[in-house]
Amino acid sequence: MPHHSRARRHKAARLAALASIAITALLPTLSSHASDPLPPLSDAPTLFRNVNVLTMTEPGVKSGWSVLVVGGRIAQVGPIDAVTPADTLQNLTIIEGDGNAWLIPGLADMHVHMPPYEPGNAQHEAAAFRACTLLLANGITTVRGMVGHPSHPRLRQAIADGSLLGPTLHIAGPPIHQGIAKTPEEAQAAVRQHAKAGFDFIKSHRVVQEEVYRAVQTTAAELGIPVTGHVDNEVGITVAMEYPQQQEHLDAIPAALIADPNAASQFGQIPPGPVLNVIDTNRLPELAKKLAAAGIWSVPTLSLFETILDQNTPTAELMARPEMRYIVPQAVGQWAEQRNATKFPALWGVDYGQRAAALRKQITLALADAGVGLMAGSDSPQFFKVVGFSLHDELASLAGSGLGTERALACATSNPARYMDSLPNRGSATGVPPDFGSIAPGKRADLVLLDADPTININATRRIQAVMLRGRLIPRAELDALLAEVERSARPPFNQEPPLKSDL
Ligand SMILES: [Zn+2]
Repeated sequence: MPHHSRARRHKAARLAALASIAITALLPTLSSHASDPLPPLSDAPTLFRNVNVLTMTEPGVKSGWSVLVVGGRIAQVGPIDAVTPADTLQNLTIIEGDGNAWLIPGLADMHVHMPPYEPGNAQHEAAAFRACTLLLANGITTVRGMVGHPSHPRLRQAIADGSLLGPTLHIAGPPIHQGIAKTPEEAQAAVRQHAKAGFDFIKSHRVVQEEVYRAVQTTAAELGIPVTGHVDNEVGITVAMEYPQQQEHLDAIPAALIADPNAASQFGQIPPGPVLNVIDTNRLPELAKKLAAAGIWSVPTLSLFETILDQNTPTAELMARPEMRYIVPQAVGQWAEQRNATKFPALWGVDYGQRAAALRKQITLALADAGVGLMAGSDSPQFFKVVGFSLHDELASLAGSGLGTERALACATSNPARYMDSLPNRGSATGVPPDFGSIAPGKRADLVLLDADPTININATRRIQAVMLRGRLIPRAELDALLAEVERSARPPFNQEPPLKSDL
């Protein structure tokens, strides 16, 4: 057994003993990576040996494979015998999976609200630490910030240079809405300003005039910066398809399923009871085909809307969820108030919420079946959706909508990478390539080790034994220690920052 002898020559660590692996402090940026916009956090070699690998480049699980990481990149992937670390490799850490561990690419959450990050502001620093840690501890190694703040380029940089341990951040600019862009000229100016400030995306949010919407799209296209966000019913999905704009929350799709177009503009993102009754899902396959042909990418954010539409679960039960311990109590209190103040009219029927949520799942499945690119976004934090944990809720909702486990996993791994690769700026204003989302040679070493098979039960993505971020291994014990620090930080007297802005 040559591999056993190899294992003996190196420092071996069994999966069960992961907690005992000594992790060196964050390595400073190495000079050989000076020009890399996203240098590795560790150059140390790691071998994941005899694990079950979801490569996401091919369907299914590869049993009894090994993955070698060197210099923060995946160096080799294949059957145990085919992965052969060079004898010259120094200090190889071996994670022995014994066939009972599953290795998946680091997850991407494409819709997160990151906190502001002004220099020297201790409350901002504490909030950024909490957000980044909750994301990492949940296996999320790539994030797209969807409510931009002028300080976010700084947050992106702090993560990139390793001074803040967090998922690789892509940022949309501050939302462009009718309050700041009433005319095409104002819209152009806002897009130019956000592009110049170094944001990776333009965020469209409540742009209701078609000429203003078109000005956002054409200006962004000229500058080579992609647009993401809302598509309001007043503008409509047909106009969005022309560009095509990457679309959040299944916006404007329910309206497009109504035969009478006059009914369309009379609601926002959630069709009220009477509108729900006139939505014709027979129109769905045809519309989904058009969306696929237009090359629209969609982030359905199913789980958040399910929570909003669910009026059966007692608020106290939501407040008692284990992940609420990581949230400042004021925020949980606000969510409870918000929920108790939202009651659907009895006239809409006792099953209104369930029917509205079921429509969203039906639309999602139709889009997937037609070949529309789908991505996972949690839209957290808001309304009992805690950053990090809520991406696993979203994966469960995607799988449960009929996509199944592997298509759901693609929404948080290979699909976001493919989407970003299709964009004029490849999803990054700073030149960070979209080399994540699959386990293949050359990809960034962003990995998650699980102790159960997520293709059998999607909730296995919550059973995280270790996370690797840009080559740096973070074992379960270290994740737990970080989470304990988040819990402390969310309690008085450390949690005095203003409540997080709620914004779909
Ligand atoms: Zn949002």
